[in-house]
Formats: sequence, structure tokens, C-alpha cells
Amino acid sequence: MNPLRPPLLESVFRALNLGAIVLDGERHVVLWNSWMARHAGLPSEQVLGQDFFAVCPGLRGGRVDAAIQHALYNNFPSLLSQTLNKAPFDLYLRGQRIQQAVEVTPIAVAGAPRHCLIQVTDVSIAVGREKLLREQAMVLRSQSFADGLTGIANRRHFDVAMEKEHRRAKRGGTPLSLLMIDIDHFKPYNDHYGHQKGDQCLIQVATALAGMLKRPCDLMARYGGEEFAMILPETDPEQAWRMAESIRARAEALAIPHQRNSDPSRLVTVSIGIATQPAAAPVAIEALIGAADRALYQAKRGGRNRIAAA
Ligand code: GH3
Ligand code: MG
Ligand code: MG
Repeated sequence: MNPLRPPLLESVFRALNLGAIVLDGERHVVLWNSWMARHAGLPSEQVLGQDFFAVCPGLRGGRVDAAIQHALYNNFPSLLSQTLNKAPFDLYLRGQRIQQAVEVTPIAVAGAPRHCLIQVTDVSIAVGREKLLREQAMVLRSQSFADGLTGIANRRHFDVAMEKEHRRAKRGGTPLSLLMIDIDHFKPYNDHYGHQKGDQCLIQVATALAGMLKRPCDLMARYGGEEFAMILPETDPEQAWRMAESIRARAEALAIPHQRNSDPSRLVTVSIGIATQPAAAPVAIEALIGAADRALYQAKRGGRNRIAAA
């Protein structure tokens, strides 16, 4: 027992569940509690009265050193950010280095130069939990296949589904159709009604058209801005055309006013390009998308609110 401290204080220091170190104005160790002794493997008898940097040579010149100087000479407290200083002290628990938060506080001592208190907290559990949360968030993000605005499948989902259906069509010798659906004159719609109304329109169109799909293998995705792509496996050109016609009609039937549409209805309309990969002659995915894009362009050129097939 330290003769200078009453027994109660001694017991409290021993019971503390964090590292407590006190240095005098010359950076000699005047307190080194049991927690420090246990995790650093250095009993206080070996440490008391020693120069702090002889005990912890690895800390010389680092951020803990700077914090101690700040406390002793500038009367400034410091909290060492855990992200920059993961584990400055050589402290171990069951063979694992302890992740630490370190706080250095100036202590005024009557009639003597200022001391400082160093508190070391074990934050390993919090750090581990944070790491786990970060990893989980990453997994969730990478698995997230929904478009943020409309809630239908996003572009990533489209890419994955397209790969899968393309492979399946080749293997099974079945046709595969792709529809590219684009809202007509959507830029003037935004300009006239505002971006928020534009968003609402996108949501309404996306939800209605995606709701038309009956088979689980069909997929409608938001391909980009106001353009949607529909994957229709085992669908030949005639069936694809019929589907496209119902989609075109369904969009118009939503009866969303569009004063600046060139269509005489002055309602929101869509144009659709169709490409079908024949069962007998598979093509590359990019070629199928390119063909559907060109067909869409043709539908636009032909006057919009219409369908064209590659
Ligand atoms: P076209 O008939 O030839 O398709 O003409 P367009 O005006 O629809 O085509 P353009 O590609 O010029 O404009 C697309 C517009 O879609 C421009 C962009 O501001 C708007 N847009 C894209 N994404 C969003 C979105 O998330 N929300 C809203 N409100 N508008 C969007
Ligand atoms: Mg458009
Ligand atoms: Mg477009």
C-alpha cells in the first residue's frame, strides 16, 4: 500500500475498470493502477517513480507525448481520437491488443507543479461492433437491388437478371425479349410541373408498369433517369409486341396530364423499343440492349407514344 494514500482511495484505484496513470510535473509516474499493471504486465512497484517514457518508450514523440505536454505545460486536456490512435499503449487482454481511448487531463496540485492524469479505456467491444456494422452495411448495400425513388428493380438488379436470363435462354434454346421503355418529353414535363411532380410521375409510371408483369421470371427495372427496361424470357417477337402495346396503352390510361407533350392527348406517354434474341441465334447482351435502344430511337423518331421492333 502507498503510505501517502488512505486505504479507501487505494481500494478504489484497484477496483477501477480503466487504466489510470498520474504523472508529476517531471513526468515521473506517481500512480499506476492495477488495471494498468494487469494489462501492461508491469506491476506498480516496477513503475512508480520512473520516468514515464522509460516505462513506455514507444509513446515518446507521439500523440500521447504531445497530449501530456499540453496538459502539464499548457493546462489543456486532450481526448485522443480512437480512429487516429487505435492502441497507443502496449496493453493486452487474453493475448489481444486492447483498442484504446486515451484522455489526458491536467491536475492542479497545491504547492507543486501541475500533474496530469491519463485515463485509458478499453473500447475493443465498441470498435468490434462498429466494424461488424460497417461490414453489414456494405453487404446490405451490395445486396440492395431496389431503385431508391421508385422501389422497382434498379440497374444493378437488371444487370444481374439479364446475365442470368441470357444464360438460361442460350442453355434452354428459348427466345429472350427486351423492352426499352422511355417517357416521352419528360424534360419539358419537369420544366413545366417541377422536379417533385416529375418524381411522382416516375413513381406512378414505374409502379403501374411493373405491376403488369405476371411471371416471376419477368423483370422491369429502372434503367436510368426516365428509362425502364423489361426482361421477358421465353417471349417471341409477337408476344413481346403484344406486351409492349399493353404497356404503352397502360401508361396512357394513367391519364397523367402533360401540357407540353407533343401527343394530342396531352397526357404522359411512353415510347418502346423491342429486341428479341431468337432461340436459334443467341447474341451478346450488349448487342441485344443496343438493338432495343435503336428500336426505341426509331419509335421516338416515328412520333413517340409508339412501339418499334429491331
Ligand atoms: P424524349 O421524348 O426524346 O425521351 O425526351 P425527354 O425530354 O424525355 O428526354 P431527355 O433525355 O432529354 O430528358 C430526360 C429528362 O428526365 C431529363 C431529366 O431531368 C429527367 N430525369 C431523369 N431522372 C429524373 C428523376 O429521377 N426525377 C425527375 N424528376 N426527373 C428526372
Ligand atoms: Mg424521355
Ligand atoms: Mg431518356
